[in-house]
Amino acid sequence: MDHIQCPVCGSSSKLKFTLKFNVYKCPDCGLYTSDAGFDFSFKSDLELASREVGLKKLRFANFEKIITKLRQIKPGKITGLEIGSGNGWWLKVCQEHGINCIGIEPEKAHEGYHTANGLDVRYGFYPDMNVKKESGYDFIIFNDVFEHIKEIDELIINLKQDLAENGVLIINLPMSSGFFYRTAMLMNKLGFKSFLERLWQFNFHSPHMNYFNQKNLEILLRKHGFIKQADHELDSLDFSTLKERIKADSGISKFKTAVLTSGLLLLKPVILTAKPDIRVFFFGKNKPLAD
Ligand SMILES: [Zn+2]
Repeated sequence: MDHIQCPVCGSSSKLKFTLKFNVYKCPDCGLYTSDAGFDFSFKSDLELASREVGLKKLRFANFEKIITKLRQIKPGKITGLEIGSGNGWWLKVCQEHGINCIGIEPEKAHEGYHTANGLDVRYGFYPDMNVKKESGYDFIIFNDVFEHIKEIDELIINLKQDLAENGVLIINLPMSSGFFYRTAMLMNKLGFKSFLERLWQFNFHSPHMNYFNQKNLEILLRKHGFIKQADHELDSLDFSTLKERIKADSGISKFKTAVLTSGLLLLKPVILTAKPDIRVFFFGKNKPLAD
């Protein structure tokens, strides 16, 4: 196929990259869409332990920033739902802040951590997993999950039903306008596909279905009546644990890891001034939220 219909604006997206899966780009809204599928075998080439060391500090710091904003928008007693809780770190940060949040997660890989920390995780897929709350949730959050979902219109219709009248939808995701995506596209042009394959997570059981930018994410949500309340960037790289992250990515040799690490350290000033790779958006249902 050289064309598919853009899931955000309906225009005809053209074939842009041929990787393990095809990637299409919309000429109007700039959304990148892949024809990847979800691999229910749950086998990925990820080294969990190594990844944990590298990411934990960074994720916790980002979650603290999200909580600060959420507290400004919704002070008082709130109940939330996280879709795709993974390791459970968001739920853990909520717990530390006295925020009640339920998680939905298809994988049981982190069940031990969830149980040990007393986190409320339901194992299954949203919306199949029934987590209806009579008055609706005060917030629903996606942390690095929204870009993995194929049927986005269907998803947002369900979210709208599950959110309270003044509920807030929080989406934390990587941006196609960011430094890493742009660099990966350049590397792909030079014949190195692995960087772009990696960003799309095509070798993982749950690859990215879409790669958004600020504009097309807002168009998508506006289509369903959601209005952006706030958005800000998050840190995408913690340089103190960079080596572990690179090591976790695949079977890269020690030598290559050293070269990549020093290369990225040299690039640090460039990365810090480039457009952010990860951004978090707060959307209000139907109307702008009160400040
Ligand atoms: Zn489009």
